[in-house]
Amino acid sequence: MVRVRGLAKAFGTNVVLSDVSLGVEAGSVTAMIGPSGAGKSTVLRCLNLLERPDSGLIQIGRHSIDVEKGILPANLAELRRSAGMVFQSFNLFPHMSVLRNVSLPQQRVLGRSRAEADEVSHRLLERMGLRDKSSQYPNRCSGGQQQRIAIARALALEPEVMLFDEPTSALDPEVGAEVLEVMRELASEGMTMVVVTHEMRFAANVSDQLVVMADGQIIECGDPHQIMSDPQHPRTQRFLKAVL
Ligand code: ATP
Ligand code: MG
Repeated sequence: MVRVRGLAKAFGTNVVLSDVSLGVEAGSVTAMIGPSGAGKSTVLRCLNLLERPDSGLIQIGRHSIDVEKGILPANLAELRRSAGMVFQSFNLFPHMSVLRNVSLPQQRVLGRSRAEADEVSHRLLERMGLRDKSSQYPNRCSGGQQQRIAIARALALEPEVMLFDEPTSALDPEVGAEVLEVMRELASEGMTMVVVTHEMRFAANVSDQLVVMADGQIIECGDPHQIMSDPQHPRTQRFLKAVL
């Protein structure tokens, strides 16, 4: 479960988020859409405190932070651990094998032994259809495979919620479809997910809630089919006309 209240963020005088509030039920999928520069990535980055918000309340599962009251390092670590993040650009460690990419964070973050971490990694890589890749280096893997490795790496830390920032934008449509399929399976297994995406079909078919952002605000939020067939806000109408 994720709850955000009154999230605000400015870079200098550039107000990027103002009063963003959002709820994501446990086991549900929220898709986030909106024009470039709307603040979608910043919302995700604030959620796991990769970016420090100026104000707002963030709750992920049992862990919560009120930015104005200050952020203790222990709270920061807990909140970060609660949210797995998958980026457009994979962000794998290039000098480590696929297996090490997935197992090292488990040792660092969860304190698992090497053997335990490797076992978990093998299981997840198998599930992602990557069993034969474990000893390869990431640059020997296709973009779609690299993204599935990144997903395995995030899942290995047993997050409360998975945050995806345009996970298929850097991929050919066919390869992107494989990644979307993995995400669809995760969703059907009950993983709580927030997905920034331009894949309107995924948003329509997989998400339970659609969030539309523009100019640092949520301008529309609700049932994906309802919003796509009958958008209320002129900005949403314009955006959907361009992408559908
Ligand atoms: P896109 O669809 O292009 O990915 P987005 O909705 O994800 O866009 P953000 O990346 O959240 O948009 O950016 C929102 C605004 O914040 C933009 O105006 C951007 O220039 C600004 N911004 C983001 N990160 C920084 C930063 N580190 N420093 C300064 N400005 C930033
Ligand atoms: Mg972005």
